Amino acid sequence: MPNTPDQYQDLRDAVRDLCAQFPPEYFRKVDEERGYPVAFVDALTKAGWLAALIPQEYGGSGLGLTEASVIMEEINHSGGNSGACHGQMYNMGTLLRHGSDAQKRTYLPRIASGELRLQSMGVTEPTTGSDTTTLRTTAARRGDRYVINGQKVWISRVQHSDLMILLARTTPRAEVRKRSEGMSIFLVDLRDAIGHGMTVRPIPNMVNHETNELFFDNLEIPAENLIGEEGRGFRYILDGLNAERTLIAAECIGDGYWFIDKVVAYAKERVVFGRPIGQNQGVQFPIAQAYIDIEAANLMRYKACALYDAHEPCGAEANMAKLLAADASWKAGNACLQFHGGFGFAAEYDIERKFRETRLYQVAPISTNLILAYVAEHVLGLPRSF
Ligand SMILES: Cc1cc2nc3c(=O)[nH]c(=O)nc-3n(C[C@H](O)[C@H](O)[C@H](O)COP(=O)(O)OP(=O)(O)OC[C@H]3O[C@@H](n4cnc5c(N)ncnc54)[C@H](O)[C@@H]3O)c2cc1C
Repeated sequence: MPNTPDQYQDLRDAVRDLCAQFPPEYFRKVDEERGYPVAFVDALTKAGWLAALIPQEYGGSGLGLTEASVIMEEINHSGGNSGACHGQMYNMGTLLRHGSDAQKRTYLPRIASGELRLQSMGVTEPTTGSDTTTLRTTAARRGDRYVINGQKVWISRVQHSDLMILLARTTPRAEVRKRSEGMSIFLVDLRDAIGHGMTVRPIPNMVNHETNELFFDNLEIPAENLIGEEGRGFRYILDGLNAERTLIAAECIGDGYWFIDKVVAYAKERVVFGRPIGQNQGVQFPIAQAYIDIEAANLMRYKACALYDAHEPCGAEANMAKLLAADASWKAGNACLQFHGGFGFAAEYDIERKFRETRLYQVAPISTNLILAYVAEHVLGLPRSF
């Protein structure tokens, strides 16, 4: 596949060098064992890549979202899966933007060094799903503590995290003017919480993605772990979503290129009916279409990154990049699987694993329909549909 050098080539080369130590066989084994890529995440942390977005004054490398997205793209392009660790890159953004000076000084340098892992963010709930403002987990102030009760679902990487950002309702919905008000975010120290009011139940799932159901039964956390102002948590979470969506768009683009590389190589060498299968237009066209879609998604990803890095509003672009990239990688994955015939289903080709991994991004962290609803309402001014 033509891979034109760009201004991020040095960065790409450095990330590729690290990823070369963790070839697809490594991720295949982790997938087969339903394990966690500990050595890979440690190496990324040590190299400082997961601290890309933390400002230098707090020990990070102070890079922009554009560079951070290149890191994620290269991991997925190499055959790996950023989903194991991308939370460490962007979850701290909530703390960085809305935390107090004391919180930032306490946590950010230790997150940058990898001493503390902030891999988890607890938003989704079993009964309310995408309708976040109706969430039922509550945090009640009792003196110098908050007491948490409720339940979350699909909360990732809790077993490989020391801290978690938690969204909970602090004022009953009936008592707030707008349903988006009255929620707050907290930093939960998982090392203190698990077994002392918080229970974790892992959810085996289609992807090897470590994710869990969480139960809170009078979990007490120090009041000083509130981030920002009480009642404004939903707004703070929204602020962080643009970075998350853009980074995941870049991961999908990396997946898409991986699928294209793989299927193009195979279509050139696999001979059936006396000629390479890639000589048939019926094979060429879906691959070419997927490649075009990835390239187009890439433009939107860089637009979202540029706006974000210039501190301009980028909600529409971040959402559109996520949708375009997730669709493009899914299309590329389908073509790659299809044109490997039966071999696409064999684990040793890594296609079925990458296929499962990239499929997730049609649903999480925001489903395709919800992006369409966002664009319909907030970009096109159509009436709110829910
Ligand atoms: C592997 C994995 C990891 C995850 N990690 C995390 C995490 O770390 N933290 C976290 O908080 N969450 C996490 N999630 C949750 C994820 O963000 C949600 O699954 C996702 O937002 C969709 O919510 P839901 O599953 O409740 O689906 P629902 O909200 O129940 O929706 C189901 C389907 O209906 C569609 N739908 C719903 N309402 C409408 C509508 N009005 N119009 C059109 N279509 C509609 C949706 O698009 C979706 O396809 C994870 C999920 C998975 C699968």
